[in-house]
Amino acid sequence: MQGAGGQLMITTEVENYPGFEHGIQGPELMQTMRAQVLRFGTEIVEDIVTRVDLSSRPFKVWVHDTLYEGRTLIIATGASAKWLGLPEERPAWEGGLGGKGVSACATCDGFFFRGKEVAVVGGGDTAMEEAIYLTNHATRVHVIHRRNTLRASKIMQERAFKNPKIAFVWDSEIERIHDPELGHLTGVTLHNLQTEERAHLPVQGVFVAIGHKPNTDLFVGQVDLDEAGYIKTRHDVRTSRYAVFAAGDVQDTEYRQAVTAAGSGCMAAIQAERLLEAEGDTMGEESPDW
Ligand code: NAP
Repeated sequence: MQGAGGQLMITTEVENYPGFEHGIQGPELMQTMRAQVLRFGTEIVEDIVTRVDLSSRPFKVWVHDTLYEGRTLIIATGASAKWLGLPEERPAWEGGLGGKGVSACATCDGFFFRGKEVAVVGGGDTAMEEAIYLTNHATRVHVIHRRNTLRASKIMQERAFKNPKIAFVWDSEIERIHDPELGHLTGVTLHNLQTEERAHLPVQGVFVAIGHKPNTDLFVGQVDLDEAGYIKTRHDVRTSRYAVFAAGDVQDTEYRQAVTAAGSGCMAAIQAERLLEAEGDTMGEESPDW
């Protein structure tokens, strides 16, 4: 799970947020949003929520022993990077190469690969963004994709294709990452899914960029989730639990953009405010039009 600011804190250029003609760096956008909400008197508690109880109102949210209560709740816990599921991705102290060559964040770890060759796994915007960013540090970036066409947006594809440091390995997946026994990364075994051939690619870093999973572990059994773990919503941002809203990537399987997340946050805030206003001093457990 990411810290405050979410995935945008580990993103480089955000090209499609309205109002920024030349794009904006993710962390800078989040810093500006934070300063903006503070100007309106928002109190920010920066900590990890350990437990919630949404069975009755007021809803209860615990940060260890500290209890916060609210008549409504907006869940905006976002999503986190997915992994391939290879044993070598585990952290070094569990016998893998996580943090020792395997990463899911180029902006966090790219610097360590100055002058080296690396691989990026994935064919979406995240993979293109990571690959392009890594060319600032690495001598060569191999994008390994399981199909022969990219899922990434046209503008990101074109940028990646144009970059002379980026090479594409199509129809392939990483079968093994070497070499946990040595404690550092020496290369990967590629499996071509069309020809069934295996090949060794000598790289010193592997960046996994295959998408994200929603951060909903806290809410299992409290609100309805879909098969992939996303919070199910109706009327855009209403969860199955009356007076609990969900906004952003935690409930969005389709758009997952900074602008759509911000937009759904706005919808949730407006709906929560209307609900509280309509209730006045009462606090019901449900409403017929929920
Ligand atoms: P995504 O669009 O879901 O792409 C994930 C990629 O990883 C796909 O190419 C997929 O292959 C591949 N993949 C998934 N599971 C895999 C596995 N187990 N092994 C190998 N490959 C696997 O995810 P994303 O790139 O993170 O983007 C998510 C959303 O955020 C998108 O809407 C994107 O536009 C947006 N985004 C925008 C920006 C930006 O504007 N700067 C940057 C990042 C993300 P297949 O194609 O075969 O399914």
